[in-house]
Amino acid sequence: MEKNRDYLTNAHSRNHMIDKLKELIGKKSWFHLYCVDVDSFRKANRLKGFQLGDALLINLFQNLCALCPASVIFRSHGDQFFMIIEEPHKKTLLDFPDCFDCQGYNYTVSSGLARYPESASTWKDLILYSEFAKEKAKASKGNSLLTYEDINLEKHELHDYVEKHIHHFLKENWFYLLFQPIISVTEKKIEGYEVLMRWNDPIYGVISPNVFIPIAEDSGMIIPLTKKLLCECKRILLSSPCYFESRYLAINISVIDLISDGFIPFLADLFQEDEALLAKLEFEITETYCFKNFDLLKEKFQQLQSLGIKISIDDFGTGFSSFEKLANLNFNRIKIDQVFIRNLPDSENDLLILHSIASLAKSMSLKTTVEGVMNHHQQACLNQFCFNSYQGYYFAKPLPLNEALSVRAEDIERKCKLRSKK
Ligand code: C2E
Ligand code: CA
Ligand code: CA
Repeated sequence: MEKNRDYLTNAHSRNHMIDKLKELIGKKSWFHLYCVDVDSFRKANRLKGFQLGDALLINLFQNLCALCPASVIFRSHGDQFFMIIEEPHKKTLLDFPDCFDCQGYNYTVSSGLARYPESASTWKDLILYSEFAKEKAKASKGNSLLTYEDINLEKHELHDYVEKHIHHFLKENWFYLLFQPIISVTEKKIEGYEVLMRWNDPIYGVISPNVFIPIAEDSGMIIPLTKKLLCECKRILLSSPCYFESRYLAINISVIDLISDGFIPFLADLFQEDEALLAKLEFEITETYCFKNFDLLKEKFQQLQSLGIKISIDDFGTGFSSFEKLANLNFNRIKIDQVFIRNLPDSENDLLILHSIASLAKSMSLKTTVEGVMNHHQQACLNQFCFNSYQGYYFAKPLPLNEALSVRAEDIERKCKLRSKK
């Protein structure tokens, strides 16, 4: 083994990296420097022993090798690796899975990115900045990537950034979906999933839909985004027909989508040969918007329903709906907003509101889903109302597709029972 290589993983050493950085800076070649390490590495070592620690390091090195040649991966100390990527548009750390498996132990990594020449012009600063960004990523939530620039940017800059880059969002494949299980109260099974969009940005990491959806709506980009999401949902339904025989996908549809001329013909066309799949879709339309273009929406709701799609009114209770108007609109479900759940079981007011929503739903023969259930006290309190289903972090967070489809309702129930005893 060469003297300047790490004995355990065979990665190059920190000195070797410094030589390489000097060489590239000398040539004025642009590159990205990533600093990566394992989240909770010490804990893994402590709980599972050094053998697992060693295996984790070898495993991480092998995973990094899938992104770039071993000649540009360096282990500096402990569980900290660096990678120099000269062609940043090829594979990057963003292509990493969320979680790795090493001998049955699941681990995640945090990483920091500094770019030459944008972030810094000297090798010392580049190392320092990538380490600093990695530490910030770990401290904020772990399992994420931050760039040096991120840490200095303010919120309004994020807004400007999203506005400027919204057109790249689809083209660059920054788009991905998560799926949050919805649990049926009586059957205790997963009755469906809410599909939630994410923007995985090379600079900012994951950007919340609360930031980019309003901008996508203003710019009209929401229409191609929703279309892409629907194509993806069709693919998922087709690939697991048995699983979705008795389950549905709940999809957030913007009113901008719904009232655009091409939307319903697009849907009919997309599902032309698979019409039966339309019955597996529930479109969630936010309550606030429903009463602005009432007549047009009423017509669109009818068209959707004649295709077989079900409709839920999302964030119910926040839009000051008039019950009289509601009765004129044909829909299938109400999703009760999380603001009414947050202060349970203590808030008398929220209990009164929930009581009247429950009786309204019953009298209109509507299904009900309660959002944002976060603990067993809330669940126990909600049980008195006979709502149909619950959704919230207490049961399951939004998950990547493979995890969402493999999680079993019994596991969720067992986990909840254990937590309620603590
Ligand atoms: P929403 O439709 O009300 O979706 C539920 C939001 O609550 C999701 O946030 C979900 O992650 C979060 N949530 C679920 N359980 C809990 C819980 O127990 N506690 C708390 N505090 N939150 C919980 P997310 O994914 O950040 O989405 C935010 C909003 O962005 C959504 O609110 C929806 O209005 C919009 N959105 C998300 N994906 C899409 C999409 O594909 N298209 C459109 N048009 N809008 C989307
Ligand atoms: Ca929703
Ligand atoms: Ca909602």
